[in-house]
Amino acid sequence: MKSDFTYDLVIIGGGISACVFASKYLKNNITKKIALVEIGRGLGGRSSTRISKRFKGWKLNHGAPNFNISNSKNNLLLKSYIDELLENQFIKIDDSDAFFLNQDLNLETQKISKFSCGVNYLSLDSMGQLSQKIIESNNLKGKIDFYFETLIVDLKFNDKEWVITSKNGKKFKSKYLICSTNLLLHKRSLKILNINQIPLRKAIPINHDKKIDLLLNFLEEQSFIPRLTFLIYTNENYSYKDFYSKKQRYFYLRKNLENKFKFERIIFQLQDNNKLGIVVHTKNIEFINYYLNANNEEVFKQKIITNFNKLFENNSVVNKLTFDPKISIMKWRASQPIGVAVPLSLQVNRKYRIGFCGDWFEGDGFGRIEGSILSALILEKKISDLIK
Ligand SMILES: Cc1cc2nc3c(=O)[nH]c(=O)nc-3n(C[C@H](O)[C@H](O)[C@H](O)COP(=O)(O)OP(=O)(O)OC[C@H]3O[C@@H](n4cnc5c(N)ncnc54)[C@H](O)[C@@H]3O)c2cc1C
Repeated sequence: MKSDFTYDLVIIGGGISACVFASKYLKNNITKKIALVEIGRGLGGRSSTRISKRFKGWKLNHGAPNFNISNSKNNLLLKSYIDELLENQFIKIDDSDAFFLNQDLNLETQKISKFSCGVNYLSLDSMGQLSQKIIESNNLKGKIDFYFETLIVDLKFNDKEWVITSKNGKKFKSKYLICSTNLLLHKRSLKILNINQIPLRKAIPINHDKKIDLLLNFLEEQSFIPRLTFLIYTNENYSYKDFYSKKQRYFYLRKNLENKFKFERIIFQLQDNNKLGIVVHTKNIEFINYYLNANNEEVFKQKIITNFNKLFENNSVVNKLTFDPKISIMKWRASQPIGVAVPLSLQVNRKYRIGFCGDWFEGDGFGRIEGSILSALILEKKISDLIK
């Protein structure tokens, strides 16, 4: 079977930032041959959707359930892109209920979360579909080859080209490279990929390029928030106490409640089959460790239901859960970058013909979809004169 592939441009990662970049880039460069390589089974990355084989008909957004733009007033590039997504009817303004549970378990509607300030947008389909639509909208000529379930583990640069190697033995050769993930630039790659040198560092040794050295130094100072998400497939007759029919409904816990109940946010997601899915996020380290050390997953799942029921005991809209819904658990070891953000000035390296995008760059949207989209738009503008 063929294992060597040659392209004009290879994009590593298939999250929303890669999709925005590829879509914009393709619009202006339809003659280029592009490959997108992604370890997951589809597009979307941390803003994608679990389509369960076991639970037919369920689609749960298990990473970001929606996205918010905290400030686009002074950012025409971002504003016009959001307008484009609205016009294409890929997204709409999210007017779902967003509640903040305070110390007395009362509901407030003030938007104070980092994930809800500014204007909120909802995908008209699922979040996974949003990335897919973004890329499909400008891939009319079938110019991208997609390689899913393909994990890149090694990067090499010779003057002529990049050689990008996957764990399953594929070699991609390309004059230009875009990394939409920073895994291959960050020390967490050593453990995750079971290698002994950060791939980008190996490709471009220290003191060969000041900008690359700086980029890797910034990333040295960046770490990540681990999260667990619990996907609750409720029973047939589970419903709200009131008559709420919008697609999603969000409950955020204030800090003291988060400490007590271990949940950060709970998102109710109405399914096409009219069942009510519930996605619960936690970033409570104690709780995550409790899960990692628990020998019995069933006991842990019972704990989730107990906490949920205690939290919503006297709630006016949420019913308690019975003890038999199905729960699947998703582990995110790097759900969100924290610490030092990378300056946008380090996004493109002309000497090595490499560009970077993602939520790990500086700006209002650092660690969120806002930052991913904006960094991709800026990268596309910066790179258009480089890739000829
Ligand atoms: C649980 C959770 C909740 C969140 N909630 C919100 C929210 O409410 N609002 C918000 O704005 N943001 C939220 N975020 C953050 C948001 O999801 C991210 O900021 C955004 O999705 C990042 O997009 P990206 O394209 O930059 O990166 P990613 O989505 O991470 O895309 C990078 C892609 O690269 C792939 N990849 C990585 N390494 C390799 C490799 N070596 N080879 C091949 N493929 C590789 C990954 O599989 C991934 O698909 C949340 C994140 C999580 C996990």
